[in-house]
Amino acid sequence: MATKRSDRQAGNRGAFDAARLKILKTQTICGICGKPVDFSYKNPHPLAPTVDHIIPVSKGGHPSDIANLQLAHRCCNRAKADSLIEPRKKDESDKVIPNDMLEQHFDWINYRAK
Ligand SMILES: [Zn+2]
Repeated sequence: MATKRSDRQAGNRGAFDAARLKILKTQTICGICGKPVDFSYKNPHPLAPTVDHIIPVSKGGHPSDIANLQLAHRCCNRAKADSLIEPRKKDESDKVIPNDMLEQHFDWINYRAK
């Protein structure tokens, strides 16, 4: 099955997969929380390794350039994504911020490290 001149669509996907594999092979530290990533965890475990866009594609970051990709825990990646989706408005900042996911995340790390 020949893919004709589809570099810009399929190529991007292939480039991301290649960059992703390279990061999974060469990086061991979560780029978001700075803690080691344990590759024995698999999705959908919260501490499973994922590849995160440093600058989200939705914010203009490159979708497949390895310079815009980093290793991250699944939960860190998700927490970051959640915080980037909707910048909080001023009058919402007084409300309680739902940070249960972050607390759990750091508890898990500490349990493993100590
Ligand atoms: Zn992390």
